[in-house]
Parts: sequence; C-alpha cells; structure tokens
Amino acid sequence: MTSTTKNFKSAAKTVIKDTEVQSHLKGLYSGFNMARIHEAEATPNWEDLQNRAQAIKFHTIENLDYYLDMAATNVEKAGGQVYFAKDAAAASEYVLKVAKENGVRTVIKGKSMISEEMELNQQLAEKEIEAIETDLGEYLIQLAGQTPYHIIVPAIHMSRGEVAEILSDNLGTPKDATIEEMAGAARDELRDKFVQADMGITGANFLVAETGTLTLVTNEGNGRMSTSMPKTHIAIMGMEKIVPSMEDMGIFLRLLIRSATGQRISSYVTQVTGPRASEEEDGPDEFHLVIVDNGRTKMLADPNLREALNCIRCGACLNACPVYRKVGGHSYGWVYSGPIGAIVSPVLTNVPDAKDLPYASSLCGACKEACPVKINIPRMLLYLRNELTEGNYDPTRKKSSIGEFIAFKGWGLIVKDPVFMRIANWLGRLGQWPLVRAGQLRNLPPPLSAWTRYRTFPRLVKPFRDRWKSNEQ
Ligand code: SF4
Repeated sequence: MTSTTKNFKSAAKTVIKDTEVQSHLKGLYSGFNMARIHEAEATPNWEDLQNRAQAIKFHTIENLDYYLDMAATNVEKAGGQVYFAKDAAAASEYVLKVAKENGVRTVIKGKSMISEEMELNQQLAEKEIEAIETDLGEYLIQLAGQTPYHIIVPAIHMSRGEVAEILSDNLGTPKDATIEEMAGAARDELRDKFVQADMGITGANFLVAETGTLTLVTNEGNGRMSTSMPKTHIAIMGMEKIVPSMEDMGIFLRLLIRSATGQRISSYVTQVTGPRASEEEDGPDEFHLVIVDNGRTKMLADPNLREALNCIRCGACLNACPVYRKVGGHSYGWVYSGPIGAIVSPVLTNVPDAKDLPYASSLCGACKEACPVKINIPRMLLYLRNELTEGNYDPTRKKSSIGEFIAFKGWGLIVKDPVFMRIANWLGRLGQWPLVRAGQLRNLPPPLSAWTRYRTFPRLVKPFRDRWKSNEQ
C-alpha cells in the first residue's frame, strides 16, 4: 500500500469535519470498546491471562529465530512449504510464482493486513489473476477501491447508504435493500467465487511453533472456506505471529477475541496443519507459508521498539484511543492506524515521512490500558518523538533552534530553584495581564499560539505557599 503518512494533518482535518464518519467512529467506543471492558470484567483472572500472554510474547520475540526455525520445521514435516521473505516484494514474487506454477486465474482471500503491506491484489491483477476479498468488510472496501479503515472492522466508516450504493453498482441489489438482503447478495456472489477459485490466500492470527499449526479467527467462516476449498492455500504472516505451543495459543485466543469484538468466542476458529492428508476429505493439495520480515527486524533490533512486535492486532487500542476516534483510520496513511499504527507504520515505512504519527496521541494511556498484552504504547511514542527531535532518523533535520535551546535551559533552571521559580512566577503574573480574558489565557503569541488557538490556558496565579500563608492569616 502506498504510504501517505506525510498527509496526516490535512487528512485528519477533513475527517474531523465529516459528521457522518464521526458518528460511525463514536460507535467504536460505545460498541466494541464497552463490550471489551464488559468481557474483561466477566473473565476470571483476566489480568493473570494478560500477564501470562505478555511474558510469552516477550519470551518468543527474544527467541524469535529459535521459534521461527521450529515452526518452519514442523510446517514442512506436515507437508507444507515455507518461504522466508525479506520484504513485501520478495513475498509477492513468491506468491506470483506459485500462482503461475498452478495456472491460477482466481484467488479468494481471507483477511490479511500483510497482503495490504504487499499491495498483493494489485500485483495479482497485473498478472490478470482475479483476487476477491471474502471478509465482508474487506469485500466492500475492495469494491469501493479503498483501503481498510480499521484492523478489525475495515469498513467502519461506511454508512448503510454507501454500502447499498456499492452493492447496487456491483451486484445489482436494489438501493433500498435491507441489511439482510445486502448480506445475502454478497454471500451468494462469494459462494460462487469460493467454488471457482484456484487458490486461497489468507493471513494468520497465530502460528503454533510446536506443531506448525496456523490459526485463523473469523466470524464469517470465510477463513475456513479459503483454506479448505481451493487446491492451493498460501498463508502469509508477519514473522512476529508465532506462539510457542498450543497451550499458549489458548491464552491468546481468549484475549484476542474478547479484546477485538467483545465476544467470548468468535463464530469460527480454524486451525490448519499442512495440506490435506491422505485420509482427509477436505483441504488443499498444496500448503505454502510465507513468513515476511518487511522491516520487522528493524523493530526487533531496537530494544526500545521491540515491544511493538508483541501486538496481536486486536484493534482494542484503536477503539479506546480518543485521537483515532476523531481522525479515523485513513488519516494515518498506511496499513496500520491508531496508537499501535503510529509506531509500526513509521518504522515499517519511513520515520521522517511519518513524523506526525508519534504525535497523534495525547499520551492519556487508554491504549496501554486496553491492550490485552499490556504493550506500553505511550513509552514507544515518546521514544519515537525523542528520536525525531534528536534527528536520529533524519540527519538532515535541523536540531532545536537556539531559541528553543535557551527556553528549555531557562525552564530547567527555574524549576530547579525555588528563588528563580518565585521570580518567574511574579514576572509572569505581571506580564500576562493584557492576554487574560475571563480568567483564562487565550490567543497567545507564537510559539504558544498553536496551543491556545483551540484551547484556553489557566492564567498564572500566586504560588501555592503564598496562598496557603494568606489563608492561614
Ligand atoms: S497494541 Fe495491543 S491493543 Fe493495540 S492492536 Fe496490538 S494487541 Fe491490540
């Protein structure tokens, strides 16, 4: 997917003014977020599960080479083929090679964010291979020529009217069709595609290293049909999707599903180990697993960012984030949005281009609180801000101006010394009077104008100790 992370601010401004999209985004909080909180409260030992999952993730990522090797060995033992792709281009090349060898003309796809990283649908189209998304949200996005808006609910920004319009244009359903009629029309269309398809391509929620088993979580059954109906199945996953054992996976399933949609269990949990065995009726003749790096080793190499690889892509931090719920998913400009996207997208694309994303947070900590694996997102956002300010990602970036340097040195002196603090307070109170309106500071001159353009700032008052003294008197 072409990155437009540079345009974050202008894109966000447009979304904030779109009342229709704003009403859909509000639903993320009252719907998914509240359902998650309810399920977390209703689950015995929720925090214990979180702590165990966090420990497993830290351990797996620290020993990723060991578990990747174990997983690859076990997939091959089960009859599958494994390909390690260093980047999106290498992964696409492998998929196209397998498609060519098998004379593939039609592909059905389960939801896969990594295939968005690869722009796989466009690449298949260039080879005249039809690729059809089978998750309903992804299908709508594909018909509309858009990209996913949210990790879990890709078409959350679309109104019912827009969906009716898209389906009417593409499937001929009446524009006043009911939701059931629209879903039915999409299902009929996709059923035919499942039957015709030569190849299924899916992502992976998890890969169990000890057995080489791929796990997919869906609510529509499309994951199961994509993995079992076509003769060839290719699963594509980021290298961080490994869990060591089946027992561990039980923990992640409980956390993922509750955190993503607030369900206790999703309608379908599909597990695939290799291609169809001789005694099995269903399943593909060939199973390929593509394990993709595409910049993840950069995150792995940086101890300050490694924790981002613990993400299980549940989307809970997006639903909890007050910034995401205002600016929406497309503003972030690449595959991953919201708080975790503000870390992953810059690192996997180009940090200087995406320099506004780490600032797209009030650092309120709602993301960290919502995260089922307790990822410390605010810490990593602060780290990226610091790296950007220090020019560590972009040597051509101008470091702090002399004015900024003096201001912060001065601030440092003032807060460290009570005498300077008192003098500064007195001078500030004296100097602020032309700017005070109804007890608040508004429309301050630069460099504080950006802050007070949209919000007021309390006026400086007498220090607490002085007020305490006069109260006592
Ligand atoms: S960072 Fe945590 S809350 Fe956000 S998507 Fe990843 S696992 Fe879910």
